[in-house]
Amino acid sequence: MEEEKLLLIPGPTPVHPRIINRLSLPTVSHVSSVFVREFKEALSNLKKIVFCEQGKSFIVAGAGTLAMEMTLANLLGDGEKMLVVSQGYFGQRMGDIAEAFGCEYDVMQSPWGSAVQPDQLRDQLGKKNYSLVVSTHVDTATGSCAPVREYAQAVREKEALFAIDGVCATGGIEERMTDWGVDVILTAAQKCFGVPPGLAVLVFSERAVDKRKSLRSVHTYYGDILKWLPVMEDPSRYFSTPCVNEIRAFCEGTRVILDEGLDVRFKRHHKTACALRAGLGSLGFSFFTEDEFFADTLSLPVYPRGVEDRAFREKLAEKRVIVAGGLGRLKGKVFRIGHMGNISYSQIEFAVDAVEKALSELGYTFHPGSGVKAAKEVLQD
Ligand SMILES: *Cc1c(COP(=O)(O)O)cnc(C)c1O
Repeated sequence: MEEEKLLLIPGPTPVHPRIINRLSLPTVSHVSSVFVREFKEALSNLKKIVFCEQGKSFIVAGAGTLAMEMTLANLLGDGEKMLVVSQGYFGQRMGDIAEAFGCEYDVMQSPWGSAVQPDQLRDQLGKKNYSLVVSTHVDTATGSCAPVREYAQAVREKEALFAIDGVCATGGIEERMTDWGVDVILTAAQKCFGVPPGLAVLVFSERAVDKRKSLRSVHTYYGDILKWLPVMEDPSRYFSTPCVNEIRAFCEGTRVILDEGLDVRFKRHHKTACALRAGLGSLGFSFFTEDEFFADTLSLPVYPRGVEDRAFREKLAEKRVIVAGGLGRLKGKVFRIGHMGNISYSQIEFAVDAVEKALSELGYTFHPGSGVKAAKEVLQD
């Protein structure tokens, strides 16, 4: 048996026993009534999670990157332009996808640790005629959370469709599709849903579905939402075999979310983030992301002087907590700790305690117990 470790990387996230147990059920036919029922429930729960009243959800084998690709391939007609609003790493990936499809695009890139201001977006939208605007909600490399609600408002003043890359946010941070006027939320199973990796997850507004219908053809076959639409409306129909076990696990993941309650869940994520930052802050860590843009799902603690990245993360792993290193020019300067999905308050206390133990074994001096105490104070508040 592999020793169980607390996986606090920015996805995949720890999987609740209720969810992992669904993967071990016998594989049933993809057109059996039990599966059709659960697939339908997953699709309908997904719409509730993103507050989408009209519109269509899609759950397809793949991951976040396929969901990004499907968004572009279904919504950008030949000769049309896309604008990407990026506060880190994954916006550029959207640009790379546009390159692969030969689409025209621009990227508005904020400095790392902050985000593009809504007025800057307004200015850019005034300069060119974009058909699609895509923004990352929480960037996994920089830990910054973009003001996507304000972005949606700015895009609504134009004709363009607005899509959110919610891979590190959906199900952990509020996203209200209908109220805010968002056309697509794209995400994956393995981050805030706390389901094992394996699914591209999307919700399209009616406007977005109509846009696809208005395009004569698109440059994808498997990713064409019109191929999938009949299946999503009636999962007893066939287009390409759905991953039965994974979708049943995802269905359970959506039940876990709705059982907790969306409001309670979003507040829990916020409190968890505050507790973690209070705990690590009192041990001498600062944080890379500017306060205004802190994400509730992920943090980037900056090492205090004298703490070496690799040695620290190895020690922390010995204490059974796995975190990720910094990306790009943040390598060695920060670590990245995810606190999203189905993580309990006691797991956060465990993580802060493990950080204290690792630091202490590395000879770093601090007031023992102060991190856990600070985290607890926030959690008990
Ligand atoms: C993780 C992530 C992705 C990529 O998802 P994959 O499932 O690894 O393809 C895209 N966007 C954001 C914001 C992410 O955090």
